[in-house]
Amino acid sequence: MTKPVPADVVSRLKAVLGEGGWSQDPDRLAPKLQEWRGRWAGQTPLLVLPRSTAQVAAVVGVCAAEGVAITPQGGNTGLVAGQIPQGEILLSTEKLTAVRDVDPIDDVMVLEAGVTLWEAHQQAARVGRRFTVGVASEGSCTIGGLISTNAGGTAVLRYGMMREQVLGVEAVLPNGEIWNGLKRLRKDNTGYDLKQLLIGAEGTLGIVTAASLKLHAPLASRAVAVVGLASPADAIQLLARAKDETGGAVEAFELMGRLGFALTVRNVPGLRDPLPEAHPWYVLIEIASGEPGAAEAALERLLAHALESGLIADAAVAQTETQMKAFWHIREGHSAGQKPEGAVWKHDVSVPVSKIPDFIGQADAAIGKAFPGSRIVAFGHVGDGNVHYDVLKPEGGDDDAHDAQREAGAKIVHDITAAFSGSISAEHGLGAMKSLEALTYKDPVEVEVLRAIRAALDPKRIMNPRVLF
Ligand SMILES: Cc1cc2nc3c(=O)[nH]c(=O)nc-3n(C[C@H](O)[C@H](O)[C@H](O)COP(=O)(O)OP(=O)(O)OC[C@H]3O[C@@H](n4cnc5c(N)ncnc54)[C@H](O)[C@@H]3O)c2cc1C
Repeated sequence: MTKPVPADVVSRLKAVLGEGGWSQDPDRLAPKLQEWRGRWAGQTPLLVLPRSTAQVAAVVGVCAAEGVAITPQGGNTGLVAGQIPQGEILLSTEKLTAVRDVDPIDDVMVLEAGVTLWEAHQQAARVGRRFTVGVASEGSCTIGGLISTNAGGTAVLRYGMMREQVLGVEAVLPNGEIWNGLKRLRKDNTGYDLKQLLIGAEGTLGIVTAASLKLHAPLASRAVAVVGLASPADAIQLLARAKDETGGAVEAFELMGRLGFALTVRNVPGLRDPLPEAHPWYVLIEIASGEPGAAEAALERLLAHALESGLIADAAVAQTETQMKAFWHIREGHSAGQKPEGAVWKHDVSVPVSKIPDFIGQADAAIGKAFPGSRIVAFGHVGDGNVHYDVLKPEGGDDDAHDAQREAGAKIVHDITAAFSGSISAEHGLGAMKSLEALTYKDPVEVEVLRAIRAALDPKRIMNPRVLF
């Protein structure tokens, strides 16, 4: 728990923000102090709701002078507890929602930090462009949160992570100064790139207040299929073929094991299995092209070859936009599908794509041996080497007993990940949940350098002090 915030600092912050710019109302605070899965709860002496970058700077300035800690929060959809305060001032970006510019000539939009991902997609579409980051929490997660966690999602394979979508950042640094780095340049080789430090910093190096983001050309055709196959190794082969045979038009490639697929279809209302028979593994593949009809043709060709050669067992191609959405809903419903099953340990790991079959094989064997009866739901953005490796309690098992073994389970999964030179956090960040554990796996020389950078920018460690190193 962070040291208590002095009452006079709380009063000064209230005065800086004025009426409507802060709250201590327990009902107003409640949804911001609880993480969406209910795993973490927090507390704060004050919720601050700045309406402008200048107000953010004023708040951080007061906190910097007094050495008072701040936890930034966007949409509160983070999965590693980085946004839940434990006694710090809670700074929400919910009122920083201006759309400053959307420009289809520069192919850039400039959005404030509190704009949701869903709204970002609408703004891009308004000028005939696309913003390519896609995550299932799009209705709530914000530009500031996506940047601060360097979010991934379903289109990384083709367009890269959030980091690759950001051309410029405006931020309030831990000393309260405003850094205007809202450039729109695709080329700018003028030394260290400060925005890249802020991307993925999880709120530890300042508050992101706005960003200039890349827009992409619209698509003329999309085709989506759910494929049934025998193993992750076959899925990796299909991925390689898909890349070769479609000229790089693979928009998404998502792997799903039978258990997660079946739980999602059973537990999420309105879903049904698009294939007549059950398969050990499934892939959702999306091909997209700027040319009308090209995606459908490429997908049909790919699947016909794969069926003919016995690489896949069956496939259903979506015939309508509604069907495409339904297929995607199965993949995106995987977390919701597990919820009714009770306690689960979630691991968000990445390994080189070629190592995915070995990783899954070794992890399944080790978890099965250490925790007999536990149920494994492995799924994820396999085209990026990213596996969400979830371990559910045994059927009818006790939630608390499963929760009590969470750390031991994580150690097994993460040690295997590290043996493949993988990462224990592929896309969700470290937050308060994994920061300490990450020290076991990160290079000590790197950690020392990162700590020096943090200390240079934030000598009093006021920004999200429980997060990162
Ligand atoms: C159903 C569901 C599906 C998801 N799918 C994916 C997925 O596919 N890929 C993926 O990468 N993530 C996924 N996530 C995780 C989450 O949506 C992302 O991490 C998202 O980027 C968080 O955005 P947010 O606005 O909710 O941030 P928050 O949860 O509010 O905060 C996340 C972190 O960023 C910091 N932060 C927030 N705003 C700022 C700011 N303006 N300045 C500085 N620091 C800030 C916080 O302090 C915290 O450390 C999913 C979450 C859910 C609930």
